Formats: sequence, C-alpha cells, structure tokens
Amino acid sequence: MEEDSIMDKQALLRKIPKIDELINSEELQSKCDEIPSWIVLESIRETIDELRSFILEGTESVLESFKFDEFSIIEKAIVKIREKQQNNVRRIINATGTILHTNLGRANLSERAGFHVQETASAYSTLEYNVKEGKRGSRHDLVSGLVAKITGAEDAMVVNNNAAAVLLCLSALAKDKNVVVSRGELVEIGGSFRIPEIMELSGSNLIEVGTTNKTHLRDYRKAALDREVALMLKVHTSNYKIVGFTQEVEIEELVELGKELEIPIIYDLGSGLLCNLEPYGIHEPTVQETVASGADLVLFSGDKLLGGPQAGIIAGKKEMIAAMKAHQLARVIRVDKMTLAALESTLRTYLDMETAKAEIPILSMITMTPATTKENAEKLVERLEEIGGDFQFEIIPGESQIGGGSTPNQFIKGFVIACISNSITPDNLEKNLRFNDIPIIGRISNDRYIIDPRTLFNSDYDSIVNAFKKIWNDINGK
Ligand SMILES: *Cc1c(COP(=O)(O)O)cnc(C)c1O
Repeated sequence: MEEDSIMDKQALLRKIPKIDELINSEELQSKCDEIPSWIVLESIRETIDELRSFILEGTESVLESFKFDEFSIIEKAIVKIREKQQNNVRRIINATGTILHTNLGRANLSERAGFHVQETASAYSTLEYNVKEGKRGSRHDLVSGLVAKITGAEDAMVVNNNAAAVLLCLSALAKDKNVVVSRGELVEIGGSFRIPEIMELSGSNLIEVGTTNKTHLRDYRKAALDREVALMLKVHTSNYKIVGFTQEVEIEELVELGKELEIPIIYDLGSGLLCNLEPYGIHEPTVQETVASGADLVLFSGDKLLGGPQAGIIAGKKEMIAAMKAHQLARVIRVDKMTLAALESTLRTYLDMETAKAEIPILSMITMTPATTKENAEKLVERLEEIGGDFQFEIIPGESQIGGGSTPNQFIKGFVIACISNSITPDNLEKNLRFNDIPIIGRISNDRYIIDPRTLFNSDYDSIVNAFKKIWNDINGK
C-alpha cells in the first residue's frame, strides 16, 4: 500500500510541466506581456516549488481532487505575479465606520491638501528659501503663522508626530529636571507611546502626584513646593475615561497655580480638534480653548481630529518654542515638504470653519447626519440589489466611532447596511471582500456583514458593487 502511494507521488511530480513550457505557453504570454520577465520566472518557480511540496506532503485523498494541468498552474502563478506587482502601501475601502482608524492610516487628506502634496513632491519648492529676500529661509516659518492665527497662540512649530513633540518639549525644557504629572494621566497611546517611558527617554524626572482616580490641585502644589520643578505636564486622557469617584485638575486651575509658582504648564492634548463639535454631540476640548486657558505650550497631532497629515504641532510661548527649535532633536524629528504642504493646505481650510466641515473628510464624516447615512445606505443597497444574487440587505440603525485613540465612549448614530446570504457565510464574505483588488474592510456583527456608509467616499460605491458582483459570479461558477 505504502509503496503504491510513493509511486503515485513520483508519477504526480512528473506530471508537473517544465518551467520553459510554462513560460512559453501562449496562455501566460498573452497575460504577462508587459511584466518584467524576472517576476514571471520567479512566480512560476515559486508555484512549482509549492506544488512539489504539496504533492510530497499531501495525503492521497487531497491529491486526488487536485489539478496539476498547465492552465491551473498558470492561474496560480498569475495570482503571485499580481501580488508582486502590487504596492505595499495602497488604497483600501474603509466600511468599518471608524473614522480615524489607526490601522487604516488615520485621517485622510482633503482634495486640496492632496493636490498641494502632489505639486510640491515632484517639484522644487520654497521649503527653506525666502523668495522675497532671495536667501535661505526656515521650514518652521511655513505654517507657524497659520497655526498661530487659527489657535490664538504666540508661535508654533511642527515635528514628525505628537509623540516626537512631547519628547522634544521634555528634552529641550526639562532634561535632568523634575516634571510633575498626575497619576491619572500616565497614559499609554497605541501601545508604543507611554508617558513614563517618553519622560525617561528625554532625561527628565517624573514626579507622580495624586492617585489613579483622583488628583487635587493641592497635590500639584505640594509636589512643586517640596522640590525644584521645571514643568507641570497635563495629559489629555484621549483614549480612555476614568468614571465614577474621580477628580481631575482642569487646565485653567493648573495654569493659575503655574502662574503663582512660576512654573510653565504644558498640555499634551493629543487629538488636535480645531472646530467645535459640541453641536454634533462630540465632547472634546478644542485647541483654541486650551490655548486660551493660558497653557504655555499645547501639543497635538496633525492626523487625528485636525484631519491633516501625520505631524506633531507645538503651539504656545515664543521663547519656549525658540528653545525647542534650537535643540538638536528638532533636526532629527523634522518634517518634510510633503507634510508641510499637506498641513498648510489643511490649515488654510480652517480659516473658514464651514469650509473646513465640508472639505476636510474626517470632519464631514463626523458631522454627517443620520438622514444622510440612511440616504447613502439606500443608494448603495439599491445598486447591490440590482446584482440579483441571493444577498439580503437590510438598513438598520448603527453607531460609528471616531477612533484613533480619541473620544472614547462617544458614538455617532446613523444607519448601516447589514448583509446575509444563504450561499456564503459572513466570515467568507468578509474574507472575499478583503481580498478584493481594492480591499474592502467591514465588520461582522450578530452574524451579519456590516457596511457603514459614514466612512465611504463616493468613488468607493462602484468598487463595492463590483466586488459583490464578482463574489456572486464566483458562487455561481460563472
Ligand atoms: C495620540 C496622542 C499622542 C501621540 O500622538 P502621535 O501623533 O500619534 O504621535 C500623544 N499624546 C496624546 C494625549 C495622544 O492622544
């Protein structure tokens, strides 16, 4: 018996066509006309290697139903060729309803910012050149005026991200010195940014005050009177909420204490909201009100609620910003021309708040009314039903999230599409949509596949309809 199956395997291995035969086949030639030959060769080799190990390791019953003909092998190789040609950073469709999805690239740029990046990226630019004076300029000056104008701060600078902004601030202003932070605000953001660790890295000395759930102003005062303190740092607990028996010192009170004791107050705000979203039920402090509270420096991200590129923005007192600009680390964590172009265009949009809400994608998603999500869901369902598969679509009330480590416990009400089918499980539907040319990322809830129209762009609708069409055709063997 055993010998028999070994013989069978040898016979199967011999059945695999030769590499040359495959490469020269008309089938492959016609499909891979313009593809570099090394990609074709590498893909064929890999396919054949996989096939050989599959034969050697496979049980008889599995091998029986397996196809080893030229056509099937070429089909497999073409899948590999496609994968090798695909960019690793590429567009996907976010049907999850999580607006600032950390895994899906956080904020998406406005059209205006996108054009500005494109124009700047492939040309020479004014990055460090002052055209009026015909001499060297500073990249810091390109957006600091806009940040100051919009936030009301004296001055501003921009670095790689907000984690870098916190590191620079502590390194430049508090190396080997004491910095007071509330125990309730020793946050971890996104698994890799932790306040105690970033402080250690900066060489500043963390003085913890209060407890996890309660910190009083007197705790800060006592810590500052007991020793020399360089800074007091307040951290916005942007990705969690402490509820119940709690006490947090508001920024205004801390600013007063700072004035009295002559200690600068730094506020790591994180989310960078520039537009009041209270009318839309989103409770989150704006940068403007934080600056107005009198904090000496306010630090925030460019790609969270601001809706721009990845960046860390520091807004506040001129002389403190000058000290940070002069620090070696400022050069290490500086931003490039594409970031500055995207940030400048995004900030310009904020010169008129109504324009900002209409043109900055994450703001228009947040402010989209439930009625609009319903209309959009209806439009998509109508087109999906035209496919004629056995999918059943139902429009049901749902909740979207802002995400990106902001506004925990705050959900935005709207309508979502729930999909079921007798021919395909929700898990397989999810997988098939994820494997689409432009991957479609949705979620499964109560055994139904959910599409949230809040995070879809107009251009996504055709792709979703085509993906469902393809899945239905595959089910039918067409
Ligand atoms: C998000 C966040 C950070 C980190 O900002 P990145 O731009 O992701 O580096 C730091 N502090 C707070 C409070 C945050 O919310």
